[in-house]
Amino acid sequence: MVHRQLDAYKVERDTRRRAYMSAPSLREQFPQVEQVALELTFTDPTGVGKHSPQVHTFGPAARAYFEVPCPCSACLSGGFDLSAVMSDMLARRAGTVSGKSSCQGWQDRGRVGEHRCPLQLSYRATASYEADGPVRARLERSVRLTARR
Ligand SMILES: [Zn+2]
Repeated sequence: MVHRQLDAYKVERDTRRRAYMSAPSLREQFPQVEQVALELTFTDPTGVGKHSPQVHTFGPAARAYFEVPCPCSACLSGGFDLSAVMSDMLARRAGTVSGKSSCQGWQDRGRVGEHRCPLQLSYRATASYEADGPVRARLERSVRLTARR
């Protein structure tokens, strides 16, 4: 029994590692992104756990993987999936985006189906972009038009 429960954490770690390894690089997915910074603050409304804030930075070679594991070590099937938020932000070339998210996991393996993990995440992402192709092309086009006049 204990072994099977411990395995649940291991399976989760393996799944996460595989997803990370198979994620494309930021450069492949969003060629114009220069850098992304992700600031994470965790709040435990029950006041039991204290979790340090985290800052993650991603360069063009980093994997475009934005799933944040829950910092509670006992949490099962938890975490915060910022993939959609980040993809949307980078596709729109937004400079910054922030929001909150709740952990969808279970508080611990003894309470699966009973108590949700109470952890809340506040995130703030900032990104910088290279002057991109379309903008440059537009500029060149307007220069050509000006020259023709
Ligand atoms: Zn959690």
